[in-house]
Amino acid sequence: MSKKFFLQEKDIPTAWYNIIPSMPTKPRPLLNPATKKPLSAEDLYPLFSEEASRQEMNVTDSWIEIPEAVRDIYKIWRPTPLVRASGLEKALGTNCHIYFKNESVSPVGSHKLNSAIPQAYYCKQQGVTNITTETGAGQWGAALSLASRMFGIELAVYMVKVSYHQKPYRRSIMQTYGAEVVASPSMSTKAGRRIITEHPNHQGSLGTAISEAVELAMSTPNCKYALGSVLNHVALHQTVIGLEAEKQMEMAGEYPDVVIGCFGGGSNFSGIAFPFMRHNLAGDKNTLFIAAEPSSCPKLTRGVMQYDFGDEAGYTPLIPMLTLGHNFAPANIHAGGLRYHGAGSVVSQLKCDGLMDAVDIPQLESFEAATIFAKSEGIIPAPESAHAIAAAIRQARQADEEGRSKVILFNLSGHGLIDMTAYDRYFAGDLANYEVSDSEVAANTAGLEKLI
Ligand SMILES: *Cc1c(COP(=O)(O)O)cnc(C)c1O
Repeated sequence: MSKKFFLQEKDIPTAWYNIIPSMPTKPRPLLNPATKKPLSAEDLYPLFSEEASRQEMNVTDSWIEIPEAVRDIYKIWRPTPLVRASGLEKALGTNCHIYFKNESVSPVGSHKLNSAIPQAYYCKQQGVTNITTETGAGQWGAALSLASRMFGIELAVYMVKVSYHQKPYRRSIMQTYGAEVVASPSMSTKAGRRIITEHPNHQGSLGTAISEAVELAMSTPNCKYALGSVLNHVALHQTVIGLEAEKQMEMAGEYPDVVIGCFGGGSNFSGIAFPFMRHNLAGDKNTLFIAAEPSSCPKLTRGVMQYDFGDEAGYTPLIPMLTLGHNFAPANIHAGGLRYHGAGSVVSQLKCDGLMDAVDIPQLESFEAATIFAKSEGIIPAPESAHAIAAAIRQARQADEEGRSKVILFNLSGHGLIDMTAYDRYFAGDLANYEVSDSEVAANTAGLEKLI
């Protein structure tokens, strides 16, 4: 049987780990798209909570205290179990030791709640009464709906219209927690009305949803906007994952040779990886870090390092990132949370400096890995998490071929119980692999340097 390593409530970390002070090359700053000048924390105050803005810009403090009120709510599902995946090891016939950190046990079924709780808390602390956000597949919206409810804040979620209709259960989850869910583009904002007037059948995109959420936050008193990935403060909050896993690996009497996370904007990968990476940066360990991205959206393996917008519409600050271009339209793959054009600035810099690695996983390989894992460990993984599983399986097979035994740790970012339509389509043979062509990448990233 797969053995679990449990921590107690008192072992929930008391501080998040900020990797930036230890980085050999610091990420370049966010830029104001109009003036091209570096942004300060104060510049972000109109949009985000003040504390989140300060954390976003913090390049000096390696440890940032987790408020007691946040730790109290973390106790609902944290510490999460670390599992030795003996069932998977047996199914693969591998000599490697495979472990996973199970973030799927959160009430909303993914790691996203780790950042939603502090973001809602910091809003509450400064008297904010309303939050807006956007959501694609719905995982971030679900997490922020619960977090807002816990602090008595009203939340409006702009959900990409096509997902609103195709993924009714995540919408129901958000509504259960009391959030207002609006299909985007909508008639409730100027941006939405303009899009609908010009394109009456627009099915929505993260770009339209971000534009609407940002507009509402900027035009409503006591209202802030919150983001579920990409930014430094989001990655920071997710480090509870790796900090707990570090203690649990110690309980197991092992240290990982390889640490793996799937990659959308970088938050769960950063969460599992950064706490272990600090020992590499200190020269004490030589762990390999692998971000697993979909072949259809390969920003880390094939993107360019440039300043780019965080959204399609070009409303956000300019972020130094490995990017496929903010107008990149990824294939309609089922790992909705991984369909993002760029990587956060910290991960992008670490990748360019050779301090981590990335692999791209074809869609069919991810679902094959998902079913091997479900049959051997019992948990049906989120299609996103399946990319990390596929990368772990590749690592184990390669080590076996080389006659070595490695200790492999991956993050199970979420379960897939609300994504069974995707599994149905896989079983029916309706899913395909999508490869992006070099010319597509080149066309999408051409001219980015002109943004600065
Ligand atoms: C959102 C999501 C991801 C991708 O986002 P990151 O910020 O890259 O972690 C991965 N897995 C699950 C389950 C998600 O909900």
